[in-house]
Amino acid sequence: MAIKVIKDKCKGCSICVKNCPFSAITLENKVAVIGSACTGCGVCVEKCPFKAIEKVEEEKKGAVDVHQYHGVWVFAEQREGKLMGVVTELLGEGKKLAAEIGCELCAVLCGHNVENLTDELIAYGAEKVYLADAPELANYTTDGYSKVIMEAITQYKPEIVLLGATHIGRDLGPCLAVQCNTGLTADCTRLEINPENKGIMQTRPAFGGNLMATIVCPNHRPQMSTVRPGVMTKAERDDSRKGEVVRLTPSFAEGDIRQKVLEIVKNATEQVSLTDADVIVAGGLGLGNAEGFDLLKKLADRLGGTVAASRAAVDAGWIDHAYQIGQTGTTVKPRLYFACGISGAIQHVAGMQNSDYIIAINKNENAPIFEVADYGIVGDLYKVIPAILDALGE
Ligand code: FAD
Ligand code: SF4
Ligand code: SF4
Repeated sequence: MAIKVIKDKCKGCSICVKNCPFSAITLENKVAVIGSACTGCGVCVEKCPFKAIEKVEEEKKGAVDVHQYHGVWVFAEQREGKLMGVVTELLGEGKKLAAEIGCELCAVLCGHNVENLTDELIAYGAEKVYLADAPELANYTTDGYSKVIMEAITQYKPEIVLLGATHIGRDLGPCLAVQCNTGLTADCTRLEINPENKGIMQTRPAFGGNLMATIVCPNHRPQMSTVRPGVMTKAERDDSRKGEVVRLTPSFAEGDIRQKVLEIVKNATEQVSLTDADVIVAGGLGLGNAEGFDLLKKLADRLGGTVAASRAAVDAGWIDHAYQIGQTGTTVKPRLYFACGISGAIQHVAGMQNSDYIIAINKNENAPIFEVADYGIVGDLYKVIPAILDALGE
């Protein structure tokens, strides 16, 4: 919506100028003029006693016929011939969305010699797999993958495209969105279908995690989202499922792929797999020092889990960032999450609140972590954890 002054009706009374909360109106030759600071809040429309200001429908730039687009697509990210964990989560979520819309769930798979993965994608619920298999796609490159997927989107017109918010998904998603002239909502934590228009409502934390924003994409297609690993529920595998494989025929001319992968150097921190852990024992500033993690590790080892941390513990230099849980770390959904000496700031809770069971150990009985905990133990973690270890026995 845009705000427009009907010049013939404006009496220059300046009531709108005084009432605009964004100081967006000035009087020029005794006529109100709306400036670029206008947010479209509509206050002036209400306040003008002469009905000289109105809201007008803005032209929808580059809008497409949304009815031509059908189906939910999941980007089936694979590395070295192995599907990333987030793909099964996206298929689980995609299936739910596709059922609500009444359309099919598809996966789009790129790589070289990856055809064997199509069965796995079908077993996890994809009714159709678009497969682009070519030597040029052996390693991920922005140009190579985006060219192939963009061509497929242009030809098959999916209404929704979901990608994992991995390093690759975060690179590929925006690139495709720009090429398709559509929007992309990054790092979604909830996806729902609006029952009225079947559009997707994409919810993600905004303003430092202090509020949740729900974003829609009404006039452009596909509607695109990246979803953080560990947020959505994994699809159930069923090897009896049947599906169709549609082969894409990628062809590349000289210069199409501007990036060249010279060497792949694995980061040691990539080996920390928090998203796959069933049990996580996380420590915060309440540990008091880096050595506190040795105690947490004992508990984690006893339960077959892994340690993790709050940002404050990472910022203190006690543990690598790869272990950080939360809005600016990893989002996890283990069966059991121990929060030891962690206060429960919203940015931390955003990354672990979907755990099946949360056990909080904190000296302060008023710590916010107890609001999300299933079991709360008020006490010094250096007494409580050894007691738990004793109780667990050898
Ligand atoms: P504190 O808040 O200092 O809490 C320490 C707790 O330990 C206290 O509750 C205390 O009672 C308890 N305690 C002390 N001694 C003991 C003991 N001996 N036994 C038991 N309990 C004890 N934080 C994250 O964790 N992850 C993020 O991804 C993240 N992203 C952020 C992004 C933004 C934009 C911002 C602004 C902040 C972010 N934060 C994040 C920081 C967050 O706001 C908090 O500052 C942080 O989570 C606090 O960490 P903490 O709970 O370990 O420390
Ligand atoms: Fe003009 Fe209405 Fe604003 Fe008065 S309140 S200056 S009449 S637009
Ligand atoms: Fe100001 Fe709101 Fe009117 Fe825009 S719509 S000019 S922001 S009062």
